[in-house]
Amino acid sequence: MKKIAALFLSAVMVLSLGACQSKTTEASSNTDSTASTANEQSAETATLDTIKADGYITLATNAEFEPFEFKDGDGYMGIDIEISKKIAEKLGVELQVHDIAFDTVIAEVQSGKANFAAAGITVNEDRKKNVDFSETYFNANQSVIVLADSEIKVPADLSGKKVGVQQGTTGDVYCTNEDGTSEVTNIEVQRYNKGVDAVTDLINGRLDAVVIDDFPATKFVEKNSDKIQKLSDTLTVEEYAIAVKKGDTAMLQVINEVLKEMKDSGELQTVIDSYENVLVG
Ligand code: GLN
Repeated sequence: MKKIAALFLSAVMVLSLGACQSKTTEASSNTDSTASTANEQSAETATLDTIKADGYITLATNAEFEPFEFKDGDGYMGIDIEISKKIAEKLGVELQVHDIAFDTVIAEVQSGKANFAAAGITVNEDRKKNVDFSETYFNANQSVIVLADSEIKVPADLSGKKVGVQQGTTGDVYCTNEDGTSEVTNIEVQRYNKGVDAVTDLINGRLDAVVIDDFPATKFVEKNSDKIQKLSDTLTVEEYAIAVKKGDTAMLQVINEVLKEMKDSGELQTVIDSYENVLVG
């Protein structure tokens, strides 16, 4: 049986080579695409089958990002956690949370150590090279947090200032002007693994500002409203999505179905709204 499969595979490979080299006739390129689709599907179904057989699915996240993911005693809470539980439920398995540094969640998915990553991840071109993204589920911005009596009033005032960011985030990319598109430049960037540590340094006078996603920024300000405030102008316009290993269309399809169901039923909005009033970390 294996031999026949191997023969079939090499026939497919020869056909695809032919297709590449000579931009060949419609008939053979058809054969090529049908064969490789069948091939890909069986590999991916194997992943879903493995998840079902194991009885759990692994989420890569960084539980330092209230209200999207944060620790609650021994467990985890947040908008991404609730979506992830629905994904696990859809497959009839348990959710295993892999709580790691934000700048490693993409690599965790690439290596197959996690089945998906949900961590308030902004879709961008750079990340699209390494993972595939689901449909988006949240609109976000990078916000600026400053001291209540700060002289920084608008984003342009950040130029020449010392600003804390979370390592490897879009806030980091913006402040370092990594892709050369930032409107505010010449920022002195200080990187942190946890947003909360940056906010603590801001409150203690070691930073002039913190740049972080808007909803988490709101939570930090709510917890320290006598000391810090958010600027009304934001720096970026972003969208969050869930990441899977490149080519894992079966996993992506399950995630997109869950997101669609949650959006269509209004459940996603209910979950998001419910975290407006929750203040934990
Ligand atoms: N949305 C930001 C990014 O994708 C930050 C995410 C996070 O810190 N969890 O880079």
